[in-house]
Amino acid sequence: MRYIAIVGASLAGYRAAQTLRREGFDGTITLIGDERRRPYDRPPLSKKVLAGEAEPESIVLERSGDDLGIEWRLDERAVSFDASGLALSLERGGELEADGVILACGARPRPLPGTDGILGVHLLRTLDDSLALREALTTGVGPRRLVVVGAGFIGAEVAATARGLGCEVTVVEALDRPLARVLPPVLGQVCADVHTDQGVDLRLGAGVDGFDTDDGSISAVRLSDGSSVEADLVAVGIGVVPNTEWLDGSGLTIDNGVVCDETTLAAPGVVAAGDVARWPNRRFGESMRVEHWDNAVSMGQHAARRLLAGDGGVDLVYEPVPYFWSDQYDRKIQLVGRVGPDDQVQVIDGSIADRRFVALIGRDGQLVGAFGMNRPPAVQRWRTRLEEGMSWDDALALASEGS
Ligand code: FAD
Ligand code: NAP
Repeated sequence: MRYIAIVGASLAGYRAAQTLRREGFDGTITLIGDERRRPYDRPPLSKKVLAGEAEPESIVLERSGDDLGIEWRLDERAVSFDASGLALSLERGGELEADGVILACGARPRPLPGTDGILGVHLLRTLDDSLALREALTTGVGPRRLVVVGAGFIGAEVAATARGLGCEVTVVEALDRPLARVLPPVLGQVCADVHTDQGVDLRLGAGVDGFDTDDGSISAVRLSDGSSVEADLVAVGIGVVPNTEWLDGSGLTIDNGVVCDETTLAAPGVVAAGDVARWPNRRFGESMRVEHWDNAVSMGQHAARRLLAGDGGVDLVYEPVPYFWSDQYDRKIQLVGRVGPDDQVQVIDGSIADRRFVALIGRDGQLVGAFGMNRPPAVQRWRTRLEEGMSWDDALALASEGS
């Protein structure tokens, strides 16, 4: 293999390129990305960059000394792909034929219907989005009135950062609890309480019915319960859609992401990684697409190795235990494992009331997750145990020994 093209110049794509070089690949690597910037980290976009505590330069992924000899194609979009010939067409007219292709083209925010063209409505995915939202949160007379739609990750982190900037914040969420489809109720509730503790007006079980505008700018959000919330700006975080439209007709299977096998292979010579990739995770017996930082890194690295291994890579199964963290106010929230709303929860250290605790999560006699609030070392210990596999009873026994 002499020529590898990577589509998506962000976290999964850049980590894949680094891994190709670390594994000794000395052919050409072309990295195609439709943003004009070199790869950068997204987590600070809703946290320190939004708060004005970190400069954009501090979030670039390349470190001094990284010399990967990449052929950069930035501000360039791949518009079609033929998987049988490993041929890519680019928007500005070029065609590339590679020996191997890594698909790391991520996901984009789902827009909120009815907001098209209304000034003051923000989505958040890119550095430019973050800088624009920061500007809107920090200019004007008096505290800005922000309505956040969606109490998922973006919503929770933007709400926390905006409160830190002195904004009046209302969060609107259609379900009865934040992350209700992901977390058992007691854990979703503490995620809600963290915000009400800080003076956020949390409107749960309320959908958005419409918007009022003043001279084209947002002035209020109308809710399904008949109430209306005045707003200077709106931040929308209602989930993402994987960037796969350009792969229609490619010969790949697309089903809420690029469908891969257990090893991250999507077709001969084609692998996928990060937010765009769906694969059967053998450890959980479940097909999954994971939208978190840790997976973009480890899957990007894995997919690069899988591509280089060619026919000899059939045993390179990718079966991670998913992990994420979220920083909100002075709390670090972490979850390791694959959990659901009906799982059992046992607090084993600290207390929910203090917003400082570790909880184990179990299902069918097995330990399936660990959730921590301001307890990073303990969560890392349980991460290792989850990777090794442990029964619920053994986990509780170990916890009662204080380990
Ligand atoms: P992306 O980062 O989405 O990158 C894909 C790239 O490909 C983009 O630049 C896109 O524009 C480009 N692209 C798409 N289509 C094409 C095409 N056809 N041609 C060329 N280029 C294309 N995770 C955590 O675990 N913890 C956090 O605290 C956390 N905070 C976050 C905060 C924010 C604001 C956001 C947006 C995400 C956060 N995440 C966090 C999630 C994490 O950042 C993502 O999981 C990660 O960025 C996924 O990386 P990726 O490389 O797979 O995709
Ligand atoms: P998300 O985490 O999927 O949350 C979206 C939330 O919006 C869900 O609670 C969803 O509820 C709700 N929602 C959906 N449609 C709605 C509507 N019409 N009105 C009101 N609420 C609605 O997505 P996100 O917060 O937008 O984040 C975007 C991406 O960035 C995700 O991939 C996320 O993982 C990533 N991210 C991760 C982190 C982190 O890991 N710390 C931080 C920031 C961003 P339903 O369940 O009903 O759909």
